[in-house]
Amino acid sequence: MNTLLQEKINAVIPNLVAVRRDLHKHAESAWTEFRTASMAITKMRELGYEVTMGADAVCKEAMMGVPAEAVLAGHMERAVRQGADPELVAKMAGGMTGFWADMTFAEEGPFVAVRFDMDCNDVSECDAADHRPNAEGFASVNSGAMHACGHDGHVAIGLALAEVVAGMRDQLKGKIRFIFQPAEEGVRGAMPMEKAGAVEGVEQIFGMHIGFQANKIGTVICGTKNFLATTKADITFTGVPAHAGNAPEEGKNALLAAATALLNMHAIPRSGKGDTRITVGKLIGGEGRNVIPPKAVLVLETRGITSDLDAYMFGEVKRIAKAAADMWGCGYSIDIKGGTKSGESDAEIAALVAEEARAMGVFDNVIELKDFGASEDYSHFMSTVQAAGGKGTYVQVGSDLMAGHHNGHFDFDETSLTNALTLMGRCVVRSMGK
Ligand SMILES: [Zn+2]
Ligand SMILES: [Zn+2]
Repeated sequence: MNTLLQEKINAVIPNLVAVRRDLHKHAESAWTEFRTASMAITKMRELGYEVTMGADAVCKEAMMGVPAEAVLAGHMERAVRQGADPELVAKMAGGMTGFWADMTFAEEGPFVAVRFDMDCNDVSECDAADHRPNAEGFASVNSGAMHACGHDGHVAIGLALAEVVAGMRDQLKGKIRFIFQPAEEGVRGAMPMEKAGAVEGVEQIFGMHIGFQANKIGTVICGTKNFLATTKADITFTGVPAHAGNAPEEGKNALLAAATALLNMHAIPRSGKGDTRITVGKLIGGEGRNVIPPKAVLVLETRGITSDLDAYMFGEVKRIAKAAADMWGCGYSIDIKGGTKSGESDAEIAALVAEEARAMGVFDNVIELKDFGASEDYSHFMSTVQAAGGKGTYVQVGSDLMAGHHNGHFDFDETSLTNALTLMGRCVVRSMGK
């Protein structure tokens, strides 16, 4: 079985780098992955997969942090100009770029899902001549949008894996689902897809990332513990403007309300039950030197090692926002921009991945389970699957990184694409082989 798998993998390798580079060049950020999804859907249909997309794959009401209509319209137009299928793009109106693609094999067997994220970062690609995307002509042509996390590689791996799997359909049993999710950055994309049924009935789920904690080419982390649950929100305080010299008493100072809230949010008592975080990353407020500030916005996030702990932190944030607004006679509103659950890979699935990784002979550092200490909205899919009795893991495939993730100088060693594809292929065959 593994010989046939290797043959199929060898056949798709020559195209892997080209696909990754094409996606890198046409980077699209959260909820605007129109071209990426269009290319991927077309390919998946060609391979014989049954695609669920648009409003059927993304629950519109649950979408968070969606760009304004005009921005979406501009990006839809750009996608078509850059080669996307106009009909497919039209079906993704409103930013519903997520989709899943199924293949059911003749013999009954497990329902396995593999998930890949598609979005790039709101980062400008650096213009250094020695940055490889510049030197080799595949730097992003979309300004302010850059694949600085490696999701271009993830989509390339997903499509290659889909081709390998389709080529082995006679050797496999059960049903496989490829989930291509938008808006992983800001942890916004998984929940609306889960609400639309993306992981309903899934018994086993695999997710993966290039690099991250596995920042050397020979390293692989087969399972991840302690994804942090997180909530992202903007809180707007609304006051009343007034002349700062002759009538400050007539004003209601929204900037002071926001500042009061900010300081007290950072003073939320930490829980004895586990790790928590709070960061107010941005405070925007006021109008001018001599105007009582009528408006201020806090851009913040909470995290917790469990979903309950994140809920505790965010509950306190809400209580403090209300109290601070009351104290300064201001109004306030909370706009949730993103969030995800905590999560933990199943040790037995991670052990299975580790066995396959060791058998490949290309990894000199196989780590079975590692604390993640960050958030990834794959954990929303995985914990949903687990809550229904299924199992899952999240794999980090080692790559030498030219700079940290989300940095304009980011790039990765492309041999990690082949390693990731091979490892995922082996895991699928192991779970679904006849
Ligand atoms: Zn990222
Ligand atoms: Zn990422």
